Amino acid sequence: QKAEWAKLVNEKSVSKDGHTVELVANIGTPNDLDGVIRNGGEGVGLYRTEFLYMGRDELPSEEVQFEAYKAVLEGLKGKPVVVRTLDIGGDKKLPYLPLPEEMNPFLGFRAIRLCLDRQDIFRTQLRALLRASAYGNLKIMFPMISNLDEFRKAKAILLEEKEKLIQEGVQVADHIEVGIMVEIPSTAVMADLFAKEVDFFSVGTNDLIQYTMAADRMNEHISYLYQPYNPAILRLVKRVIDAAHKEGKWAGMCGEMAGDEIAIPILLGLGLDEFSMSASSILRARSQIRNLNKADMEKLAEDVLNLTTNEEVKEHVKKVLSKA
Ligand code: PEP
Ligand code: MG
Repeated sequence: QKAEWAKLVNEKSVSKDGHTVELVANIGTPNDLDGVIRNGGEGVGLYRTEFLYMGRDELPSEEVQFEAYKAVLEGLKGKPVVVRTLDIGGDKKLPYLPLPEEMNPFLGFRAIRLCLDRQDIFRTQLRALLRASAYGNLKIMFPMISNLDEFRKAKAILLEEKEKLIQEGVQVADHIEVGIMVEIPSTAVMADLFAKEVDFFSVGTNDLIQYTMAADRMNEHISYLYQPYNPAILRLVKRVIDAAHKEGKWAGMCGEMAGDEIAIPILLGLGLDEFSMSASSILRARSQIRNLNKADMEKLAEDVLNLTTNEEVKEHVKKVLSKA
């Protein structure tokens, strides 16, 4: 099977009936690029920049960040690279950045919330990204957006830094897409209005599932509530995809679910444009998509959206796949 998959490294991710999607990778450091290329990744759908900030004893300088972002952009030679701005807090802590003790860290001071408060940190990262944008196809994505006000503030800061760099005579790419992660139910609910202002969405199901089900993703006692196929989750995902398409934007997914064999047929049917996963899953996913009919999966997606439980959806998809 692995040998069969290996033949697909340079093939398109296209369904039997000719619908093309993009299969891209989640990475944490420039060292992961090798794996992306070896596995036929069509770009990077999530560069988790936290790793640049971890395992050191001070904030990474603009220069250190610029070099890392430039390395990734150059390494991918014009293929799209979605870089997520700093998502620290929650379970991820930095030794040199003391944060207040919180009752509920996952509901607390993290990601974009922290960046909008500590603008020194945020602006340094944005400057490094903007400078690197001249070396490839950069897209910038903000994590943990819960309302439009946050997105507007973050984007305004980005545009301010861009303007400053241009004034300084620094080269910056003309057009950089700016999007958000959809990890919070309020944002999925408001997707139609977000879609008028963002360039793209990427659904972060790892968090979207935890917040929708109100079930801590680290707590073993309630892991049964971590239900990717629950129609509640699928309906939110559909809402996001439909909202994006209505405004001529694209919708991706970068949570674990995007590489899941049961989820992929449903997501293809819902019209997801970009699937971002660990590089090692890409060839298997490509092989699966090449054996599916988009039109059939549309029917499948419609059917599962009206089932009642996670288990029912899972069983239904398995049944349909076994007949295909
Ligand atoms: C997610 O929440 O789905 C996601 C991709 O972000 P992380 O796993 O880094 O929280
Ligand atoms: Mg997340």
